[in-house]
Amino acid sequence: MQPKPGSSPAKVSAAQTGSVVQQKFERLGLRNPQDFVLHLPLRYEDETAIASIASLRGGMSAQIEAEVIDCEVKYKPRRQLTASVRDDSGELALRWLTFYPSQQQQMKPGRRWRIRGEVRSGFNGLEIIHPKITAPHSPLPASLTPVYPTTDGLSQPSLRKAILHALGQVSLVDTLPATLVKKLGLLAFDIAIHTLHSPTPDMDAQALIEHTHPAWIRIKFDELLAQQLSLAAARDARRSKRSRALASTDSPENLCQRLLRSLPFTLTDSQIKVVNEISLDLARDYPMYRLLQGDVGSGKTIVAALAAMQAIEAGVQVAIMAPTEILAQQHYQKMQSWVEPLGIGICWLTGSISPRARKIALEDIRTGKARLIIGTQALIQETVEFENLGLVIVDEQHRFGVGQRLLLSRKGEADLQDWVPHQLTMSATPIPRTLAMTFYADLEVSTIEGLPPGRTPVLTKLVANSRRDEIISHIAQSAINGQQTYWVCPLVEESEALELQTAVDTHQALTQALPELNVGLVHGRLSTAEKSSVMKDFREGLIQVLVATTVIEVGVDVPNASLMVIEHAERFGLAQLHQLRGRVGRGHASSVCVLMFQHPLSMIARERLRAMYETQDGFEIAQRDLDLRGPGELLGSRQSGVALLRFADLAHDSEIVRAAREVATDLRLHHPDIVERHLERWMRGREDFLRS
Ligand code: ADP
Ligand code: MG
Repeated sequence: MQPKPGSSPAKVSAAQTGSVVQQKFERLGLRNPQDFVLHLPLRYEDETAIASIASLRGGMSAQIEAEVIDCEVKYKPRRQLTASVRDDSGELALRWLTFYPSQQQQMKPGRRWRIRGEVRSGFNGLEIIHPKITAPHSPLPASLTPVYPTTDGLSQPSLRKAILHALGQVSLVDTLPATLVKKLGLLAFDIAIHTLHSPTPDMDAQALIEHTHPAWIRIKFDELLAQQLSLAAARDARRSKRSRALASTDSPENLCQRLLRSLPFTLTDSQIKVVNEISLDLARDYPMYRLLQGDVGSGKTIVAALAAMQAIEAGVQVAIMAPTEILAQQHYQKMQSWVEPLGIGICWLTGSISPRARKIALEDIRTGKARLIIGTQALIQETVEFENLGLVIVDEQHRFGVGQRLLLSRKGEADLQDWVPHQLTMSATPIPRTLAMTFYADLEVSTIEGLPPGRTPVLTKLVANSRRDEIISHIAQSAINGQQTYWVCPLVEESEALELQTAVDTHQALTQALPELNVGLVHGRLSTAEKSSVMKDFREGLIQVLVATTVIEVGVDVPNASLMVIEHAERFGLAQLHQLRGRVGRGHASSVCVLMFQHPLSMIARERLRAMYETQDGFEIAQRDLDLRGPGELLGSRQSGVALLRFADLAHDSEIVRAAREVATDLRLHHPDIVERHLERWMRGREDFLRS
């Protein structure tokens, strides 16, 4: 709800609002004065000048003074309030998609207002949607107005007042010695804080707005330093825990060697390198915490299997956790074919197996009859009790929350008291260097470079939706040549039900359009048995076209599929598109990925499709994704390491990251008191992160 014009929380009695306002502050994480001080502006508004309407351009945020010419409620395409205003230089449209009668009253023709907002180019020229309207002729502020992150019903003025109050209470003494601050060419902390909260007219407005002002640099440095220090502390904490040392044996008859000999291929040099890195980690008596990254199709599964073999040979159980049932099942089938011939007990556990099968599985896991356990999130449920879990492998780790991963590793801790399992996480979303240095500073990273030999690059085509019929006849043609197709239905973020409906409709339409082919359908609502039977039919070629929702996004491996059609590709994220495209190009046939899109494209959608067209390199794609979206989204914003960064921007601040890393190392060695002081300022209330 928008507050009524003229009413502000300040006018309600203080006693009445105290606790309500308190709650709103809490929602923003603002508990003690220190929190308010570090609650820095999201952006600044330049209200120091009045622009002329003629000088406005789309995308600008602007302030004008103008007279209302007309105002009316329109009903098409939906109910909305529209107005036109005029100054000496021209006219501008205003629009409210929801509004109060009082707002309509305000916009009486002939009245003058000061009007602020984002200018955009609409159908009929420039407009401002939901402008801020204030009285004209009032004095203009002399400097930029900070705009703080806030929450529903907490106004900027009351937030600002609380912050200014806190500034008077808190010591802003520098955590770093003056000599170091000077050597690094940084601004003093107190000056930086005051500058950001209350800029003065002489300050470089552009630099403040763009976060390049020395005051921002100082804050970003402090934040990144705190992050580096806490990650290092987390690493120390981990190193102080004990794990079983799972050294490999040299015997040519060990499980790894026997598995390698049974494979129809030989490992690439890059795979051998990462297998060795993992092997050395496993041999240590503190927990491994390693990320195995490699592009889609680079062959991470066999690397995981080899790590599992080393661990099992050394006497412990291994759990492999996948984010979806399809993927868990696929791992299960592959691992079964690899390890059962070696006489290893393997079992699988997901949320949807029958109670009887579940009971047997749980029993086998508890007694240790099962050595290799594969499953979904069900694995981390309370009731699962391991005999001696020594290694946890998490596939496609970006799909899991940090919390889930922690639970699984703590499971081992709880069950076994004196030692914790090693952890290997795998990801096909390569992490750009800057991110690896910060978020994953606590993590060892192994990377499989390139793909196994014999792959043909995928040809990517961008095709407008209107050419759907052509694509369908292309599918028919490639089926005659014995090739198979994935047809991925559009992502409907608002509603899973709608997404499902689209998939069902598409399935029906394609079945009709391609009567001579078998068209299958797989989506998240199918039971495990149904899903696996469809996937099996597709793998065996009984189905030529598989209509799917994004459930096939991660990990599915059907080498004979060589055509991938993605409908409404503009709705997908870059990482997702790359994952999907990675489902083809796995066999010998040359493969095609058709990205169908619907005009008009937003700028970001256009850039994403361009990136897909221009490159197939997962690292390049991840870097562009980072540039387009920022790191929060890339890793899932709930992942704590990135959520921790409120001010620094990993995509653009790599220089500061580097400096912070160096200083962190030095401080940890020589100045533990400074480390403590700095973490106290930046990490209070975020201890949950330190424990990970
Ligand atoms: P991802 O890294 O995406 O998980 P997978 O482990 O599913 O990839 O491997 C993709 C395919 O490549 C599988 O069919 C796998 O058996 C095969 N593969 C893995 N390593 C090699 C290799 N060195 N040579 C040939 N094929 C390989
Ligand atoms: Mg995989």
